[in-house]
Amino acid sequence: MTESRNDQLFSRALQSTPGGVNSPVRAFRQVGGVPRFVTRAEGPRFWDADGKRYIDYIGSWGPAILGHAHPAVVRAVQEAAARGLSFGAPTEGEIEMAETLCRLVPSMEQVRLVSSGTEAAMSAIRLARGATGRSKLIKFDGCYHGHADSLLVKAGSGMLTFNTPSSAGVPPEITQHTIVLDYNDCDQLETAFAAHGDAIACVIVEPIAGNMNLVRATPEFVACMQSLCQRHGALLVFDEVMSGFRVALGGAQSLYGVEPDMTVLGKVIGGGLPVAAFGGRRDVMRHLSPEGAVYQAGTLSGNPVAVAAGLATLAEIGAPGYHDRLARSTHTLADGLSRVARSAGVSFASDAVGGMFGFYFAAELPRSLKDVMASDIDRFKRFFHAMLDRGVYFAPSAYEAGFVSSAHDEATIEATIAAAAEVFASLA
Ligand SMILES: *Cc1c(COP(=O)(O)O)cnc(C)c1O
Repeated sequence: MTESRNDQLFSRALQSTPGGVNSPVRAFRQVGGVPRFVTRAEGPRFWDADGKRYIDYIGSWGPAILGHAHPAVVRAVQEAAARGLSFGAPTEGEIEMAETLCRLVPSMEQVRLVSSGTEAAMSAIRLARGATGRSKLIKFDGCYHGHADSLLVKAGSGMLTFNTPSSAGVPPEITQHTIVLDYNDCDQLETAFAAHGDAIACVIVEPIAGNMNLVRATPEFVACMQSLCQRHGALLVFDEVMSGFRVALGGAQSLYGVEPDMTVLGKVIGGGLPVAAFGGRRDVMRHLSPEGAVYQAGTLSGNPVAVAAGLATLAEIGAPGYHDRLARSTHTLADGLSRVARSAGVSFASDAVGGMFGFYFAAELPRSLKDVMASDIDRFKRFFHAMLDRGVYFAPSAYEAGFVSSAHDEATIEATIAAAAEVFASLA
């Protein structure tokens, strides 16, 4: 048999790039096998280098909420590109973007645009530290906020004492200010504040976590974070890079009815091009340069082409009833998967919120990273590959959420559920 074009491309990529990919999860390391090289995408589908077609449930890890190559977004990008790619001077589009973000997420009075979620979260933390004059930050095991040094930390054995870097190349001196706690555990949070309250600059959290599969914060946990931050003068930072504009037009904060001090955005707001943002109350944001003393800058920040893609995307998803329809499709998928798994006698649970879903080879929905780790990962791998063979592309990891776009119509979702029914029968 001749080698597939995907195989050839992967061998070639391995020569010039570590692991053959530009972001680790793309390498299929957790599920094994050869990653698919994408040649083009349209609506809910993409095609690989061998010409095989897939229903896509990662949507570029969130941004492709309208489906791929949406005509309105493509047109906006083409028109903006023809006017010039980057100026290094301000544009009206950036104001429109800032005004749109602040209108949709009213807890933000001001925002700063950047180019990646990593940059946005890193800058938000620097700002929280600068605004409070404190050093420590609290994050939760399983939440991802990009790959800045102070965030690459795993929980140590002694909860409040040892926080070890989770990556080589990060000095422990940098992570000593980061406290890592279990998600949805209010007792731990109270203990941490009791011990370090006056040194904690911020608590950063994914209010609906999408980087340990999909795990929702309980309303009690959100209330607990809010009241402890308030009592101790720490800032509450919602990282809505994934949940923002995806679970609801106003983000997870609109679902929980909470106004965090700062919000971090990305993914959907660029519609597939690099735009991210962080924002919050004016009295916090005024500490940012050039107004305040907290430095932050970017050559391509607020890039006109990227902003045009973002504005076109936000205009589409702002249509009345958009998120209701998206949520309905996503629920149909998640419920359908659970139904056919149950018929096949496979232990399985699924959840969906807005256009985001998660599924787990476990009897119950997880509440923390430990729960997700206890699910049957081996079964997930077999499911993943059998679905891939049938032309359905789920995230190649049991620790990632899935994404439905408004281009996923009923027929596409029913075809997915039918394929899963076959696969579950073979797994049981
Ligand atoms: C994707 C993601 C980031 C990082 O964004 P990048 O654009 O990949 O740097 C940060 N936080 C959350 C919650 C994310 O999902």
